[in-house]
Amino acid sequence: MAYVITQNCCNDAACVAACPVGCIHPTPDEPGFATAEMLYIDPKTCIDCGACADACPVDAIFPEKSLKPEHAAYTELNSEYYAGRTFSPTFPTKAVERLVTSDNALTVAIVGSGPAGMYTAKELLRHPGIRVEMFERLNLPHGLIRYGVAPDHPATKSVVRQFRWSPEKERRFRLNVNTEVGKDVSHDELVDRFNAVIYAHGAFGSRRLDIPGAELENSIGAGEFVGWYNDHPDYRAAPISLSGKRAVIIGNGNVALDMARILLTYPLGDSTISEVEIVARRGPENAAFTTPELLALTHIPGLDVIVDPADLTGSPGDRKMQLLRTIAETVPTPGSRRIILRFNATPTEILGGGHVEGVRTSAGILDANLVIHAVGFHGRAIPGVPFDNERHVIPNIAGRVVDPLTGEPLPAVYTVGWIKRGPSGVIGTNRTCAQETVGSLLADQRAGALATLVRR
Ligand code: NAP
Repeated sequence: MAYVITQNCCNDAACVAACPVGCIHPTPDEPGFATAEMLYIDPKTCIDCGACADACPVDAIFPEKSLKPEHAAYTELNSEYYAGRTFSPTFPTKAVERLVTSDNALTVAIVGSGPAGMYTAKELLRHPGIRVEMFERLNLPHGLIRYGVAPDHPATKSVVRQFRWSPEKERRFRLNVNTEVGKDVSHDELVDRFNAVIYAHGAFGSRRLDIPGAELENSIGAGEFVGWYNDHPDYRAAPISLSGKRAVIIGNGNVALDMARILLTYPLGDSTISEVEIVARRGPENAAFTTPELLALTHIPGLDVIVDPADLTGSPGDRKMQLLRTIAETVPTPGSRRIILRFNATPTEILGGGHVEGVRTSAGILDANLVIHAVGFHGRAIPGVPFDNERHVIPNIAGRVVDPLTGEPLPAVYTVGWIKRGPSGVIGTNRTCAQETVGSLLADQRAGALATLVRR
């Protein structure tokens, strides 16, 4: 009997460090970690101790014998990862280096209180000499965890539990809400007041397709819709109408799957939407959604997922393709709500006279009462902080912000999370991202580059 990692896996790898026999992979230092859909337990090596389940911040790990029926497929999904792979049986746990003591104390500003900022604070607070002051534009902390994670995924939201500090750490941590950096306090002021400044303000602006009709009424961005159903202060009054039968979502990443599920299963006022078509410009072999998220959709009572078998030509493919084939063979239930996964259909125009009525694609016209662009997100520039206007990220090397003209790192300015690496990866991806940025900061501190900046 072994433990099994299931759908909620947040990839933060706390379980990897907790496992005494090194049976959870990929580990953060293995190839493939950055792109892994989830982490997997090797059932042949697992000693059934449960340390991983205790360490998991989102309650995604269970003993095989206690799996819920909808998680049964994860037993195979975990063991399958180890077919043809061998790993050394133990994972070397890195001891925490207490590099910063009260003798060489640092104060660090973090801009943004979402998962990237919080994982960074957690890493910094491990060092007794570091004090952290966090700046948050909104009146409540936790960013994407509060305003991005779907409301029917409370286990994922429970990742915030690990950001409740001990009393000793709480004394070294201060959160300023309703404080917008670039408006209420400037970048230069932060650089003057702190030994180091870390930008962690994320990327919540929606990318939209630049096609005719994109600005029609009820053609909206994913950030707007996700923010609206999560009661984000910027979006709670957004003019979104859920009357009519059909919604079309453009782009087929996990955000599209989240929104389709919420549209069809979550109580959203007077919504009459009963069918959501998720449209991708490429084929199923390039689908951006992950296997665990698709698998979860297939277990929702009263909801059918529909795939056209004609889209699944070619080789048998990987686990995701196999799941799509199973879905394509399943006969839909009359009267059920439906998510249709449409492939090889490039949207070229949004149709309607004022309000949206449809989407013209390379594969034909699709009726729509609501169109949501789920084609990615972009970050915003903060005055005085370098910004890459094409990639919408802060230019950096391993978290050190660089001057775009010289390519040289700016002293004591760092970045982390989606504003550092672009809008990809799940919540736990920010843990390793934060470790990299904090590693750069501590290396600079060791080299004396931060101490010289104290001007108070
Ligand atoms: P994503 O995974 O990058 O997907 C973006 C989608 O937009 C892709 O299907 C892409 O198609 C499409 N697209 C981009 N440009 C397009 C264009 N010009 N025309 C048509 N289609 C276009 O982004 P996301 O869904 O916003 O997710 C962001 C990150 O958050 C991902 O890493 C995701 O896994 C993560 N996330 C995870 C969860 C979860 O685990 N529950 C939930 C939400 C988000 P192409 O591939 O053809 O470019």
